[in-house]
Amino acid sequence: MSRTLSAPVTVAFDYTRSTGPVLGRFLTGLREGRVVGGRTSEGRVVVPPPEYDPVTHRQLDDFVEVADTGTVTSWSWVPEPVAGQPLDRPFAFVLVTLDGADAPLVHALDVGSPAEVRTGMRVRVRWAEERVGAITDISCFEPAEDAATGSATELGDLGEPVTGVVTPVELDYQYAASPEESSFYRAIAEGRIIGQRCPTCGKVYVPPRSACPADGTPTTDEVELSQTGTVTTFCIVNVPFLGQRIKPPYVSAYVLLDGADIAFLHLILDLPAEEVRMGMRVEAVWKPREEWGTTIENISHFRPTGEPDADYDTYKHHL
Ligand SMILES: [Zn+2]
Repeated sequence: MSRTLSAPVTVAFDYTRSTGPVLGRFLTGLREGRVVGGRTSEGRVVVPPPEYDPVTHRQLDDFVEVADTGTVTSWSWVPEPVAGQPLDRPFAFVLVTLDGADAPLVHALDVGSPAEVRTGMRVRVRWAEERVGAITDISCFEPAEDAATGSATELGDLGEPVTGVVTPVELDYQYAASPEESSFYRAIAEGRIIGQRCPTCGKVYVPPRSACPADGTPTTDEVELSQTGTVTTFCIVNVPFLGQRIKPPYVSAYVLLDGADIAFLHLILDLPAEEVRMGMRVEAVWKPREEWGTTIENISHFRPTGEPDADYDTYKHHL
């Protein structure tokens, strides 16, 4: 038996967040090279400022500026940083209580070894060279044993407020295809679409499952499917998004291949989006052979065959 296939997959999107007046004020401060805290009803200064008072639950509206120097209250060594962490070399995550604050802030401390970190050490913010109103405006903390003790001061005007941040979110993983999926992708690499038939209920699944979802029977009978099918349902994509390869509006549809009992999702192109309809007969359009790999993207899209629409009864059980 041949080995199963696997491929690296990256899922990523930019998460856009409105900061609101409290965190927005904190981020605006960072842009200006100042650290903003909030004073709670109990008189404690917390950095970053909380949006609501932890005791009274009222909106917090008493803001102060604290120093960019402080004291380490706890730490943890990071010997092998991963992508996206504040530093690309070993560092310490530290809790720092900034001068003028009563609660610690977590951030990175740039030192070469754990021997150079201790609870109680004095540190200072290392500001980013270019500040934009994000937590990354603090590059990290650095040792500052001689730093004088600062205190909380009145918060002056910060200028144009920061109202939003864009946070890219990315997940990298290795996708391991099942033996059945591996057969499917190997067939796709040869220009064929295969499914598997359940020996109990006779339903044909594409791409093949390891077992019939209806009755749990392992699906071992391989069948080659037609490259024509019927649109069972669809949506018109009007919203642009990052990484989009086709200009909206375009249609993403469930196509029930002839001989299959389950529809699969693909693009319907080569006609105006508003002309796509349920029951429309379509056929697979393959990319040039030299571009093929073990990927569903070998099929560029589906296009109308020009046949009369399928009767609703022929696909109504597969919606
Ligand atoms: Zn079955």
